Amino acid sequence: MVGSGTIKTLAALVGAMAIGTAVLIAMETAPARPVVSIPRLTQDQDTGIDFALISNTRVPLMYPKWRNIVIHDVGRDGANATKGCHFVIGRLDNPNDGSIRPTSLWADQQDGDHIYMPGFSYNENSVGICLMSDSSRAAPSGSQMKALVRLVRTLQDSCQIPRDHVYLHADLGEDGCPGHFFPKDDFREELPAR
Ligand SMILES: [Zn+2]
Repeated sequence: MVGSGTIKTLAALVGAMAIGTAVLIAMETAPARPVVSIPRLTQDQDTGIDFALISNTRVPLMYPKWRNIVIHDVGRDGANATKGCHFVIGRLDNPNDGSIRPTSLWADQQDGDHIYMPGFSYNENSVGICLMSDSSRAAPSGSQMKALVRLVRTLQDSCQIPRDHVYLHADLGEDGCPGHFFPKDDFREELPAR
């Protein structure tokens, strides 16, 4: 006859082992960084370039003004970053939202207010794009990344911006913007060198 105390002890042991195993499996299989799949936008079929994304301005688009593109997110910079950028992508409460929203700075083709580097004037000639995600906690969603690639490609094509003028804020001195879950290499691969 097995006492109920023994059964409880056994049940507790089995439960603890199951939890331990689950933790081990999770630790073993968890990738160093979450994989974000950016749907491949092939050059010849769907180039991803859509001029309508950037053409709705209140003044004529000043193509030669824009020499660089700088990517941010709201993790390090905070929600106020959106005000200083020219485009905002997605929504914090909905990872499926891949909307691209120009701000009034873009509508009026005005300097940005998103990057500070002593001795440089990036705000005058750099399109600021802010992802509504915190990449220090998790990678941006596939919808956001696809929208980002589409927008950056369109800007590159329209304003003749080479890939090596597409920066993350972190490339220009602001460590952690966007955070380390941002799929930097996959993103670069999607951009034409020009
Ligand atoms: Zn930033």
